Amino acid sequence: MSGSRLASPGTVRSLLRAYGVQVKKRYGQNFLIDANILNRIVEAAELGPDDTVLEIGPGVGVLTEAMARRAGRVVAVEIDDQLVPLLRDVLAGCDNVQIVAGDALRIDLEQLVQGASRVKVVANLPYYVTSPLIMRCLEAPLPLERMVVMVQAEVADRLGAAPGTKEYGALTVAVQYRADVRRLLKVPRTVFFPRPNVDSAVVVLTMRPYPVQARDERLFEEVVRASFAQRRKTLRNALASVAGAHGVDVEIMLQRAGVDPGLRGESLTIEQFVALAEALAAAVK
Ligand code: SAM
Repeated sequence: MSGSRLASPGTVRSLLRAYGVQVKKRYGQNFLIDANILNRIVEAAELGPDDTVLEIGPGVGVLTEAMARRAGRVVAVEIDDQLVPLLRDVLAGCDNVQIVAGDALRIDLEQLVQGASRVKVVANLPYYVTSPLIMRCLEAPLPLERMVVMVQAEVADRLGAAPGTKEYGALTVAVQYRADVRRLLKVPRTVFFPRPNVDSAVVVLTMRPYPVQARDERLFEEVVRASFAQRRKTLRNALASVAGAHGVDVEIMLQRAGVDPGLRGESLTIEQFVALAEALAAAVK
């Protein structure tokens, strides 16, 4: 049996029909119906018996089934209760798959993969919550090694953006601080049922410690968020309230970090954001 038995328009449609499932736009349901793209995602995950996969939104189980053949264990969280009985039947032969009914934004991810030595998040993410889901996985205390995710092309641009571009923002910095970002392939809207209004891309995030670490990650996040909250503001203005909230003069903070107060957040490198967080931490003490 091929690794992509289910990834065809006919199979996906007839499964949905057989279980009386209505496709729900509010859950970002665009099911993958192309075996070729599916195989590329699974290959990029480089799964082996030591891997525990966390899949967000298995849908009708197309990706789940293909991954179950290669990974030690697959834990798949699905928010749509209507899909759960379908998934349990479709994946009945896969002993290493656990289907969990729930919201991946709220469920305790660490507990889901308890005991795992290595976790990979592999998912065709629902578009309406892509960024919060990516951030939640990156910030959770998991032995996360890699993420292979299908996202909107526009989100892929933001994940891989360089300083000084309009796509560069708080999401870019938060992700690139934790992971190397590689855009694996562009995905046309025609490979989904129903067809979305935008094109997509598969992105591989490989976790690694950033060469310069912020000692206080909470302060780092605060500085990054404030720097991009109003993109047109200079750092002097954008960071005034964060500095003030910690009883620190913003000019002193910027000076200590060696950052020009007249710059905007979008032109700063990650090293400079770390330097700002360090300067803030030092001044708070
Ligand atoms: N993996 C399937 C595929 O590739 O065909 C489905 C992908 S579809 C883009 C997104 C899936 O995520 C849907 O099954 C949807 O119901 C589910 N979903 C949406 N929001 C979710 C959430 N917060 N937690 C868990 N699953 C969610």
